[in-house]
Amino acid sequence: MYAAAHREGDEEQCPYRGVVPRLVELSLHPDGSLRDAVRYRLPLCRHVAALRIDSPLNRASIRYVEEWVVETVGQRLELRSVIVVGHRVTSIDTEAAARLEGLVTELRRHDLEVVFSGLTDDVVDELDRAGVLESIGRDALFTTQAEAVAAVWPAAHEGSEEQACPLETLAPRLRELAYHPEGTLRDAGVHGLKRCRHLAVLRIDGPLPFASRGAMPSAFDRWATARPVVDHVIFVGSALGQFELRESEHLREFVTYVREQGFRVALANVPDRVAETLARNGIVDALGLDSFFASEPAALASMWSHAHAGHDEDPCPLAPLLPRITELALHPDGSFRDVARYGLERCRHVAVLRFDGPLDYSTVGFFERRLGELLEGRPELRHVLIAGHTLGRIDAVAAEELVGVFQRLRERGLHVCISGLKDDVLEVLRRSGVEDAIGSSCIFPTQAAALERLHPHAHEGSDEERCPLREVVESESVAG
Ligand SMILES: [Zn+2]
Ligand SMILES: [Zn+2]
Ligand SMILES: [Zn+2]
Repeated sequence: MYAAAHREGDEEQCPYRGVVPRLVELSLHPDGSLRDAVRYRLPLCRHVAALRIDSPLNRASIRYVEEWVVETVGQRLELRSVIVVGHRVTSIDTEAAARLEGLVTELRRHDLEVVFSGLTDDVVDELDRAGVLESIGRDALFTTQAEAVAAVWPAAHEGSEEQACPLETLAPRLRELAYHPEGTLRDAGVHGLKRCRHLAVLRIDGPLPFASRGAMPSAFDRWATARPVVDHVIFVGSALGQFELRESEHLREFVTYVREQGFRVALANVPDRVAETLARNGIVDALGLDSFFASEPAALASMWSHAHAGHDEDPCPLAPLLPRITELALHPDGSFRDVARYGLERCRHVAVLRFDGPLDYSTVGFFERRLGELLEGRPELRHVLIAGHTLGRIDAVAAEELVGVFQRLRERGLHVCISGLKDDVLEVLRRSGVEDAIGSSCIFPTQAAALERLHPHAHEGSDEERCPLREVVESESVAG
């Protein structure tokens, strides 16, 4: 009777307060848990209410709980989701179960999403016996409050104008990353970094991004409306934590969903234990092993050309993360430098190419395509000198591929030499048969030694008046 008796009353301290059910609205406390919002003076989210019931539910208490929920919800016009936090509900009787179902149905009729967290097995069994579990929905039951918040947060905040949501740190998020001058990928928004127009790198953030089916698709939709031109995405999994079968299934559904929207999708940097769970549950096969990459640059190298085909984004803000081939010529300071950057002419007979960046199984294909572009339309070319002093590391697969690349150049009538390789890189290449491919006399310790040997031979009978490898020759477009 308590609720009806006190409706619109102004009694401050009712002596019977202690015997009616305790009901508490929760919000996020600085210690990371959800706590009594009134007691700790915590701000409330405008769209999600977490209501904790601290008593058994039975025919005596359920009406009071109903009143309280309806009243709390009724005052909050922007509310979209209600989480009923039930870990302190020790029991529920049949009448209370039926009335609870009625309440849920009523709230849902008013377009509120209603989910439960922390219900004990006994209470769930009781709901089942009372025949109301199906209408409440097994999908609407979450183990923890954090999972429930993660599940409802994105949809509840779609199009929201809420500035700083008190629950946001529990929400699954996609953070767009971009190239930072320090040489790494960082939060584009926080650091004000330029984004590529065609390809996005999105890190999956938040404590429980795949706890529910809908959270990530809804986070993705929110991101995608702000970036309409992008049609290639790399999801970075480095922050993924706990991963079981349910999370694996939700990830598979999420990637499938994004692909159905017309995006090309790759996954990069998924932690080993998550990758193992995905493999064990058949998700890696379902999504395609070739969609998974060890690192973000590897994923970029595989997608970048496709994403930029037919577009003239110049320069692409992500380009510094790709392996590069730079053609070199003599610079006024006496060293060999990038011809494109310094407006230098290229020698007609010898291409001196510097290899930069990581060269591994996933980037070597990109590498060969760039090499092909650089050498195209140069009929007088006789020698290719690979200056490898900046090549940091190379894996066995890439080494074998590279030997194949050298062989194909040779078949086109080009002499291939390499210089300046670090010992360990050279060792990997030797094991892969590079000497057979280009001849052991074509491996030089330094670029200068290599040029000294091959330059005269390359220029035999040439009518090149000034060789950009011997003297500084500015390219005509710049000089003129
Ligand atoms: Zn909020
Ligand atoms: Zn780009
Ligand atoms: Zn020359």
